[in-house]
Amino acid sequence: MHNQSNMFCKSAENRSFFSMLRSHRFPFLIFVCIGKFLGCKDPQPESFPKPNKYIALTIDDGPLTHYYSYPDDELRWDTVTKLIDVVQTRHIPVTLFVIGREAEVPSMASMLYKWASAGAELGNHTYNHRSFNEFSGVEWLQEIQKTNQILSPISLAFKQRIRYFRYPFLQEGETLAREHESNRAVRDAGLINAHVTIGTDDWTFNEKYMALELKQDWAARYEVGQAYMRHIHKTVAYWDSVGTALEGRSIKHVMMLHANRINRDYLEQIIDTLKQKGYGFISLDEAYRDPIYGQEDLWATKNGVSFLEHLKQTKLYKEHVLKR
Ligand SMILES: [Zn+2]
Repeated sequence: MHNQSNMFCKSAENRSFFSMLRSHRFPFLIFVCIGKFLGCKDPQPESFPKPNKYIALTIDDGPLTHYYSYPDDELRWDTVTKLIDVVQTRHIPVTLFVIGREAEVPSMASMLYKWASAGAELGNHTYNHRSFNEFSGVEWLQEIQKTNQILSPISLAFKQRIRYFRYPFLQEGETLAREHESNRAVRDAGLINAHVTIGTDDWTFNEKYMALELKQDWAARYEVGQAYMRHIHKTVAYWDSVGTALEGRSIKHVMMLHANRINRDYLEQIIDTLKQKGYGFISLDEAYRDPIYGQEDLWATKNGVSFLEHLKQTKLYKEHVLKR
């Protein structure tokens, strides 16, 4: 499809052919219409190298991160519509982790419907979006089950089933015993813990980005966007090197982004520039075929960090403590 439309766009640039068509208004209009149909109005990505590294894209705080911080519905829909448009036109499989409480807001439920109709798999991100550090295992299970009940009707309408769970702030418990307690609740709810190997810190950039947008300081907002892109590439390279050091190969990554304003403007660029670096985008299911996600985690922390940090610390623990 891309090759076809590229060929078509190239022929549209052929000046002699173009000027010939100009002399006949009607065929020219047909030409333009077909061109638009084939997607020539959008810049087509150049042909990307064959992927040799892989990322599953997950988007948290769906359907729209901090929807209450937007001045109006128009801007909310603008954000969600563009995000969906990018993943759809780029054919990127996405898992959207949804906050149960927010899915109960009628306008948010409509957005959720739009995500699901665009092919996003819906995942569970708890009801209240609070840290497990504040809950018991029993309460945690209730947080998850309540969200499953809210999401299941939409999920079923699109022939899906809620299968994955994402911890808010990636906080699974401050000790190993607490981590086991929360992990058990996730399993008891019939869900799989969707680990993150690449956290992007997009939310910190988004806060600055939105504040500058409200002030209409476009130059400063642009700078934040550029800093965000540099940060993404640095972070991806770093975690890929950690995965490679652990496994001796590039692992299948799970990247976490949010359904926010900065990604509305930069997701397309993130996808295309990572593709240029040899990354391919796969579903969470495909990423989870990588055996790394079944590895034992013997390290706990109060803070939310990459799953690879857990595995790195587990390896150090095994080397320095258990083998003593
Ligand atoms: Zn979240």
